[in-house]
Amino acid sequence: MTYLHKDASGHTIDLEVGKAVCIGRNYMDHINELGNAVPTSPLLFIKPKSAFCDFAEPFPIPQQQGECHNELEVALLLKTRLTKASADEVLSAIWGVGLGLDLTLRDLQQSLKEKGQPWERAKAFDYSCPVSHFVPIEQFTDLQDLHFSLDINGVRRQTGHTALMLTSICEMLAFMSHAFTLLPGDVVMTGTPKGVGPLQVGDNIDASLESYMTISTSVVKE
Ligand code: ZN
Repeated sequence: MTYLHKDASGHTIDLEVGKAVCIGRNYMDHINELGNAVPTSPLLFIKPKSAFCDFAEPFPIPQQQGECHNELEVALLLKTRLTKASADEVLSAIWGVGLGLDLTLRDLQQSLKEKGQPWERAKAFDYSCPVSHFVPIEQFTDLQDLHFSLDINGVRRQTGHTALMLTSICEMLAFMSHAFTLLPGDVVMTGTPKGVGPLQVGDNIDASLESYMTISTSVVKE
């Protein structure tokens, strides 16, 4: 299952698949549900290209590694390079907007945190970043007024509103671009609201980015 960036009609977008750059702890309600400290500056991590898979297709989760949690996030696809950019120049670098899951092996992450070790084993495993198709940026008027939600087996688990982000999309892209150059084809994961919890093989998943897309998929065995 080779992953390629796609548009709403299923056509491949002509951007090489890059890395995912993710922000952690960007919604207060999620910080509270895990009892984490509020970051004094944005918490960033990266998932490699091998983490991507198509959100619209059934995706596998790791077995026998403890709980694998959903984190539904607004995902941004970049079309131009950003290095040490300012917040007022980053919008023009976005190709489009979609949805992604920042799948997280929560038990493993907890034990890595306790040992002071990096999170990659819990966050960057194969297929840890299912992403939807992308809707062109021109179709959005305000990226800080997007509503999104996740249902598992018909029960609402997450609702998000981008107005509640601690670090806005423009500030986040600028901050990220000072830490690592963002390249065309990279995806930015903008953080999860509350409602993270374990996924099971066989779960049916419905995700929505209000007014723009709905995704129906399921969890399968690795
Ligand atoms: Zn996340």
